[in-house]
Amino acid sequence: MKKKIAVLPGDGIGPEVMNQALKVLDKIQDIYDMEFEYKLALVGGAAWDEYQCHLPESTLNICRASDAILFGSVGGPVAEQNSERWRGVEVNSLLGLRKAFGLYANLRPAKLYPALAFASSLRQDISRKGFDILVVRELTGGIYFGQPKGRRGSGDDEQAFDTMAYSRREVRRIAKVAFEAARKRNKKVHSIDKANVLTTMVFWREVVEEVMKDYPDVEYIPMYVDNAAMQLTRNPGQFDVMLCGNMFGDILSDEAAALTGSLGMLPSASLAEGSFGMYEPGGGSAPDIAGQNIANPIAQILSSAMMLKYSFDMTEAAEKIEAAVEKTLNDGYRTGDICEEGKKSLTTEEMGAKIIENLSA
Ligand code: NAD
Repeated sequence: MKKKIAVLPGDGIGPEVMNQALKVLDKIQDIYDMEFEYKLALVGGAAWDEYQCHLPESTLNICRASDAILFGSVGGPVAEQNSERWRGVEVNSLLGLRKAFGLYANLRPAKLYPALAFASSLRQDISRKGFDILVVRELTGGIYFGQPKGRRGSGDDEQAFDTMAYSRREVRRIAKVAFEAARKRNKKVHSIDKANVLTTMVFWREVVEEVMKDYPDVEYIPMYVDNAAMQLTRNPGQFDVMLCGNMFGDILSDEAAALTGSLGMLPSASLAEGSFGMYEPGGGSAPDIAGQNIANPIAQILSSAMMLKYSFDMTEAAEKIEAAVEKTLNDGYRTGDICEEGKKSLTTEEMGAKIIENLSA
């Protein structure tokens, strides 16, 4: 079995953390006696220097010829955002890829490792229990893209408006992603809606409940979005998969991620129909620490684990990586961003090496 991976390290810490993720994948090749073919491509500022474009055709072609995209991060120092090199870099790169590959499902895990409970903003009696949530967010529809949107009228009567709309096909396909994901996890889906107020969300619930019938092994719980926002802070341990439309998912995935207290450790996936997907860390290019070999590679490494799980159907290998990360943290190893004051931290390379050591164990 040979899997082709388009590797887009991008800018800032992207190349440093990507190196560690590739070393982890190399180890997985050895363990499972299989082969990954990596095709390196430029994106973001790195692509600009060569092509005066953040997402060149040559990169898109490499992605088209691959089974999945492993993405680092793009962007430069915030103070330089209006320079020619950086202007619009995130939109051009990420939205460009989303559009080119029809990436309609965004999967964002938010896991609070008991070993890192001190970093959470939650009360200790809640954070100590840890939690492991996967937010499945619809990415290409809903109120962010619904038409018409605009402004009309003038003076006091001037109005601005957006349209929230979902088709049966859109709701069905994202619901299926959530139920399938739950099957690979703890078999529970909370579908987040506002069916008490919005017609779109009455329809959302109706369609999700049709899909649910195909997954009798998965528990289904509908929940209003306002309640979900509150439950996340009161009892996050009750959630496994949270299925959300575009806007609710945008907000709740950030809330769930923030509760972990370690944004730099969280991976994400954006999936197309079929098995193709793009996998990337939740954080940005961290220009403030780039080139110093101190960035935390865990988000990038866990992104590669998500790739194994969702694009290559290699759940066991993915879980092996997740377990190696968890063991490394439980053993007390930390990079600077997750280190308690006064304790010694590892470099990016040392952290990668420890995780690989635990993979082989
Ligand atoms: P950022 O996520 O890059 O950094 C925020 C803080 O978190 C910084 O202090 C940084 O050092 C730290 N951090 C982030 N990832 C880390 C890691 N792996 N290890 C250790 N520390 C880490 O956000 P920002 O500073 O607001 O943005 C910097 C650049 O990244 C901007 O150009 C922005 O547009 C871009 N950005 C890109 C993406 C993406 O590529 N998907 C996402 C967000 C921001």
